[in-house]
Amino acid sequence: MAAARRPYRSWVEISLGQIAANFQAVKQAVGPGVEVMPVVKADAYRHGAVEVSRTLEAKGARWLAVSNTEEGVALRGAGIRTRILVMADFLPFTREAMLEHQLTPVIHSLEDLQALNNLARRREQRVPYHLKIDTGMGRLGVRAQAPEIGAAILEAKNIDIEGLMTHFASAGNYVSTQTDEQAKLFEEIASGMANLGVHPRYLHLSSTIPVAYARKGAWGGLVRPGHAIYGYVSQVSGVAPEQLIKVKPALTWRASVLAVKNLPAGALVGYGGMFRAPRPMRVAILAAGYADGIPHRLSNRGSVIASGQIVPMLGAVSMDLTTVDATDLPALAVGDAVTLLGDEGEARIDAQQIAKIAGTISYSVLTGISARVKRVYV
Ligand SMILES: *Cc1c(COP(=O)(O)O)cnc(C)c1O
Repeated sequence: MAAARRPYRSWVEISLGQIAANFQAVKQAVGPGVEVMPVVKADAYRHGAVEVSRTLEAKGARWLAVSNTEEGVALRGAGIRTRILVMADFLPFTREAMLEHQLTPVIHSLEDLQALNNLARRREQRVPYHLKIDTGMGRLGVRAQAPEIGAAILEAKNIDIEGLMTHFASAGNYVSTQTDEQAKLFEEIASGMANLGVHPRYLHLSSTIPVAYARKGAWGGLVRPGHAIYGYVSQVSGVAPEQLIKVKPALTWRASVLAVKNLPAGALVGYGGMFRAPRPMRVAILAAGYADGIPHRLSNRGSVIASGQIVPMLGAVSMDLTTVDATDLPALAVGDAVTLLGDEGEARIDAQQIAKIAGTISYSVLTGISARVKRVYV
């Protein structure tokens, strides 16, 4: 059994129904008291931010999160009406557009807090914002004590603090105590601010892993899952609670067979002659390579599914082509579809398996699928 052909060199098939089901699974896990803000940054991890956002909005999402202003503006342009949190921007040249399009900024320094206040005053616009605290990630966020933060918030009279957030550095590591330490510091800052009369509506700390592994103390009033929405939950190290949510990948990645040919024993395959045929072989050359996002590190190590069977890649992955072993696949023909990531019959390859072989992470595999790979919604 083979996958259905399509008139593309390489394409992804995305199930919006599965995206909706994954969103539902997260909502069910956290219950009605916790808002779920799906993360649709990086083109929804390559699943298509507009289509994914439309689906989530239709399924009741009130918030979406993006990384930067440009991503948020694109969603507004496509008619998305939910609240949109911009998590990693506030570059000076993006601020006007952010407010113009009713995007909600995450502020990550006290200088930027003042700058937002000045801008809001100039524009005569009240602006809600979320403030990010650096509780130990050492990346974005304010690194100060509650009194200093509280004073800056109270001084900024043209803007309204709506959320207080932080991000965990080691949520998947149950050997480390870093997550507990971060959560504790966040708690201290939030209660210190409460003592000063600052009560943001949302406290939020959790991406997929703290949701999936039931770290309920870190859910606050809102969670920010990305990976889970696309059907993935990473494995964790150490002893973790059982997973709360069942999600399934929504994306399948395929490529067309461009050529099939026989090679004699001893023939070399691809750049650098990295593979030598140990016997006469039949090979298939796929119309996709590292420029499509197949990690070059899969050279001579990765696999694909062809005619329903897992077969190895042979030799180097090249820019536009990848060669695979078709010796035991007599039916495989030019124009047939093979599966780079996803299910075909009983066989499956997911982004985590690919990542492991390529020495990377599943997030990078998904977001690495390049723009020239066509997208089909199923
Ligand atoms: C990307 C991101 C998330 C989502 O992370 P997942 O692991 O994909 O769930 C949540 N919060 C912040 C701040 C992020 O940058």
